[in-house]
Order: sequence, then structure tokens, then C-alpha cells
Amino acid sequence: MSLKTILHTTDRYAKLLAENGICTLKDFFNNFPRTYEDRSQIKPLDQLVFDEKGKTATKGLITEKKYVPRGKGFYNISFIDERHNKGQITIFWSWYLASKLSVNNRYIIVGKPTMKMGKIIFTHPDVAPATATDPTEGNEGNQRPLASRIVPIYSELQGIKPGRFAQKIRENLNKVEEHFHEYLPTAFREKFKLIDVITTIKNLHYPENFQLLEQARFRLFFDRLLRIQLYSLKNRLEYQGTLETPALSETPHRNVIKPLLDQLSFSLTVAQKKVIVQILEDFYRNKPMLRLLQGDVGSGKTIVATVAMRYISQVRKAQSVLLAPLEVLAVQHYKTLAKYLLPLGIRIELLTWSLSQQKKKEIKDWLKSGKIDIVVGTHALLQEDVDFRDLKFVCIDEQHKFGVQQRAKFKRFNSPHILQMTATPIPRSMALAFFGEFDVSVIDELPAGRQPIETKVINEKEYVSLKARLLQKISQGQKVFVVTPLISESESDSMIDVKSAITEHAEISAFLSDIWPERIGLLHGKMRPSEKEQIMNEFKSGKISVLVSTTVIEVGVDIPEATVMIIKNAERFGLSQLHQLRGRIGRSNLKSYCFLETAKKSWDTYDRLKIMETTTDGFKLAELDMKNRGSGEILGTMQSGQSDIPLEILSNLKFLEQVQEGALRLLKRYPNLEELPELKNFMEEKIGDVLA
Ligand code: ADP
Ligand code: MG
Repeated sequence: MSLKTILHTTDRYAKLLAENGICTLKDFFNNFPRTYEDRSQIKPLDQLVFDEKGKTATKGLITEKKYVPRGKGFYNISFIDERHNKGQITIFWSWYLASKLSVNNRYIIVGKPTMKMGKIIFTHPDVAPATATDPTEGNEGNQRPLASRIVPIYSELQGIKPGRFAQKIRENLNKVEEHFHEYLPTAFREKFKLIDVITTIKNLHYPENFQLLEQARFRLFFDRLLRIQLYSLKNRLEYQGTLETPALSETPHRNVIKPLLDQLSFSLTVAQKKVIVQILEDFYRNKPMLRLLQGDVGSGKTIVATVAMRYISQVRKAQSVLLAPLEVLAVQHYKTLAKYLLPLGIRIELLTWSLSQQKKKEIKDWLKSGKIDIVVGTHALLQEDVDFRDLKFVCIDEQHKFGVQQRAKFKRFNSPHILQMTATPIPRSMALAFFGEFDVSVIDELPAGRQPIETKVINEKEYVSLKARLLQKISQGQKVFVVTPLISESESDSMIDVKSAITEHAEISAFLSDIWPERIGLLHGKMRPSEKEQIMNEFKSGKISVLVSTTVIEVGVDIPEATVMIIKNAERFGLSQLHQLRGRIGRSNLKSYCFLETAKKSWDTYDRLKIMETTTDGFKLAELDMKNRGSGEILGTMQSGQSDIPLEILSNLKFLEQVQEGALRLLKRYPNLEELPELKNFMEEKIGDVLA
């Protein structure tokens, strides 16, 4: 049945709804209110709260209605409440509104009153006869006055006034019973104190009271997160074959990794050691590992991966893969691994697009025959014709660059252990919400003795005075990053971002006119991969000293001589992102400087950026971002899609643990959800579902 038929509405209205993406009854009820107004408490005038935010309701008997012909004319309407307090209604222009009110009748008056010279005045209030009732609720006789209840406020739709939409919802609220069905088992709902779907939908639109609204919201977000959790855990179940954590079948042989550790010029941090133990133990759990390793930029994730790969080749006599999103990064990893592992007799190769056909074929043959222990590479490794003798471990660096599908490609090799590494710090509750299929490890300390990066918020004038210092650093062989602003927030490196980078490049070239323009490079996302590689290589090798770029530079690329970063219009970036950008400098024992340029005068912006001067804790910055700019800030870089789940829910670890427990329970009881067809529908209907 079409939405038009169900709603008994006109073609025109149905078309308007469709233009707003509302095509089904589910879409219709899925358009939840933006907020609510409490008009349920009718108060006498002497108890009104003069609150800027919300409207307030009173009940009055009109005593006098006077037209004042001053200016363009207005109505002054006097009323008394039930305690005989006096109030006034002022109406300009709207003769229609004035005509609704007549002397000696009672009305519910809703608005934001003001106090003027001892008088309480409602200007242009909403009014309704005190006897009008809400047709959608209760039995006749105990219905509440229409005007006085908790009223939903909807967002503006194209061509449909929020008030009209509210009315449409109210007229159709009784259709909820007909068209929606509960999909969670009763026992489950009781266990997690969830009200039923019908009550939930009705109360999200027209709450009977605030307690029910609260319960409805609880159910709404529980279900949304439950669905994500069910997906994650189903993925986990498919990959690992179990939802249990089996006991260790054996303790890892720590002595195996000793020769490698002895070679290092540093000793591991406590956090690195802890994570290595977690990974080695996963190798003995009779199920493939699915682990997400989070560690701030520079926390030393590569060596952790190296140790694990060495272990696999030595103890399991099996192969490992290290996947990197960009060729420069793959080359860098290859060199690191080669340095540590070649002397130990482990055979390593690099597989990227730029190898000759001949060489690629050779490496593929070697992988298949087992002549190679470890292969480092880019997406080239994900091709169909890459095969292994015995692949047991896959390590994915900068995991946000690789989607779930790419990870799934490894499944055909008998589900190897998977370690995904990311430098984006995700608060624990959010990791639980969106990465439920993973066990999470965190490296929460930086190696000792790092020179802290000195960060400073500067204005344009101070920027100009940097010139001499920049030239001096460059003459000493140090390198400078200039990051150009993110102008279009929607898509990183959109065309206008690229244009701004090009302009900036020209300006910097003029600004640093003392050095050759060839030594000032430009990098942006619209360049071909090979061009980007070339620029990165030239910057790495020192041919280029200043790199002007949009945000495309890879996080993991190690350029030890890069000691200065200038981020233009820094106010346009989130703190997490600034932190990630900043992590590209300070990678050696040279002192590094990060300048956050901003012209904005607002204190909010300034204070927000100032935090960067004193805080180097990525997790703390991520949480501040969540508070300031919402979860998209973090999720945006993690490819986990949109989330309109409010922050207070996403940062509520207890709540999320509850949801995960719920999802586990359901999947253990109904592994394929076959017995719960309604829930299965709910899972499969990817969009347009009411609670999801
Ligand atoms: P990331 O976690 O950002 O990938 P890397 O693995 O690239 O960091 O490590 C950054 C640098 O720190 C490398 O040069 C690495 O050799 C060095 N490093 C790693 N662990 C330690 C440690 N425990 N002590 C000192 N330096 C370390
Ligand atoms: Mg790295």
C-alpha cells in the first residue's frame, strides 16, 4: 500500500513527503521530533517560570479584548487565571489569532511570557479552547486538553511546516499498531527493561509523560546499537566460528622473540610488552585473532607487528602479511622489517604495483611455494591471483583505509589471525559500539625520551614573522609541512580544498622566495597515486624541503627531518585531526614545532586550539572532540558510517556493555536468528527501519 493511501492524503502532500525522502510509513514514523516542549504542566501565573528555552502553559479566562490603534495597531487582551492573577496577551498583525479569542471563554495559553512593568505578557501565544481535547488519546471523558501536553517539535522539512507535520503524525498515530510488530523476545525485553515497539514509536512522537519518553529513547538507542552489535558479532562468529574465548592451549614461547628484542637499540615500553603478550596469547586460542591495536602516532606499533610476524614464522613455520595503504609506507615498513628480520634468516619481500610484471609473478610464485615468510605490500596484495603456502597472520596498518570487504578477502586462506592497527584513538565506549567484533589493545604510552613537540597557536602576523626561522631550519636540512585548510567539511580533498592548496602553494613560494621554487612541493588528493608517491619520495629524500599539502599525507610515513608543521586555518580542524597531523613531525631527537595558524578572534575557537599547546594525549583530545563536535569527528576517519546516536549514549560505557551483552545473548540462543523472523527483517532492512 502506498504511503498516500495509508495516510489518506493528497497527491501533493505525498509528493512533498517523497521530496523529503519520506516514501514509506516507516520513513514517516522514522522522522522523529528534534525536541519536545513541555506544555503539560498548566501553571497559574504566579508560578510561571520565565525560562528562555521552553514554552510554558497557563489557563486563562478572557476578561477584555481591546484594539489599540497606535502604530500599525495591535490587540491587548486581558485574562485572569484560576487564582485571579491578571495576565495579558499582545497580538500584532494577526487578526486571525485575535479572532480566535473571545471574552468570557477559557483558553490554554502557551508561550514564552515576559514581565513588563509588573505585568505578565504573552506575545503571540499558541491558544486553544480549554475544552478541546486530543483525539488520539485516551477514552472520551479523560482526554487531555490538546494544547497542554508534551508537544513534539520536528525539524523543518522542504515545503512542510513542522507544525503541519506534527499534526499529520498525530492523525495517524493509531496506524502504528497496525503496521509495526515487536521483534524482540519478551523475556529479552524484560531482562533489559525495554518497553515494546508500539509504545516506543508512539511515545517518541507524542510522549504521554517524560518517563515514557525516556524509556522510549532508551529503547530507540538500545535497538540501534543492538543492530550494529549484532552485525559485528555475526561477523565475528563467521570469522572465528565461536563467540566464546577459548582458554590458552599453550603458553607462548617468549624466548623465541628474545634475539629480535636484543637487536633493538631501545627497550620496549610496558604498553608494547603488554600488547605483544595479548597477541601471542591469541595465537594459542584455537580461533583466529581479530584484534584492533590502537596506539597514538609514534607509540611504536610497527615493532609490535614485527615481533608477532617473527613469532609466526619461527614457531608456526607459517607466513605473514603486512598491508599498508600507500607504497611509501609499504617501502618504509619493508626496510624496517628487513633490518630486524633478515639477519635472523627470515625471508621478506615487498609487493607493490610499481614492480615489473616479471618480479610480481616471481614473488607470487614464492608466496605460493613458501619461499617467502613475510610479504609487505599495498592493495596489490589483495588481488585474486595472490596465493600462499600457509598464511597465518595478517597485519593491516592504518586500518581505516581498508574496508571490511578487503579484510574479508583473507578469509579464503583458512581465516588467518588479523591484527588491525590504527593511530586514531577511539574512546573505549565507542570502540565497543562500532568495533564490536574486535578485541581491543591499546598502547597508551610513548617511548621515553621523545622530545615533546612545541605547539603554538599563532595569528597571521606571527605567521609572517616565522619566515626567518623557517629559512634557518631549511638551511640546516630540516623539513617543513604546511597543511592547508579543510574548506569543504563533507569530503576531504574536494576540489575547493585542492584549489586552496594550490593557492597556498603559490603564496608560500612567494613568501619563501629565498629558496628555489622546485624545493617547495605540492600534494593533494586529486593527484594520481604515482604523482603522490613521487612527491612523498622527494620530500623523504630531501629534494623537496617544504611540502604544502591538504590532509592526504599518510599518518604513518616517517620523515625524521620534518621538524616544523604549520597548519593554516587550524580552527577548521577537529582536535583529533590536528593531533594526527602533528604526529608527522617530532619523529627524531630534533626539536619540533607545530604552529596552528588562525585568524579567528572568537574565544571559543582560541581556547579549543590552545588545548593543543598543553595536551598530547590523543584519547583526551578525541573525547574533547566528541563533546565539541560529535562522534562524526572520529567516525568520519574510521569509515564506520554515520551515527545519529547522541553522545551521552556513545560515551556511556555501561550502556554499551549492556547492549553487547544483549547481542551476545541473542546470538548464543538463536545463532542464525532464524527463530526470530521479525528481528531478522529488522537486521536485513538496512535503511528505513523505524528504530534503526
Ligand atoms: P607508530 O605507532 O606511529 O606506527 P612507529 O612504529 O613508526 O610508530 O614507531 C615510531 C618510531 O619509534 C620508530 O622509529 C621506532 O623505531 C621507534 N620506537 C618504537 N618503539 C620504541 C621504544 N620502545 N623506544 C624507543 N623508540 C621506539
Ligand atoms: Mg605506523
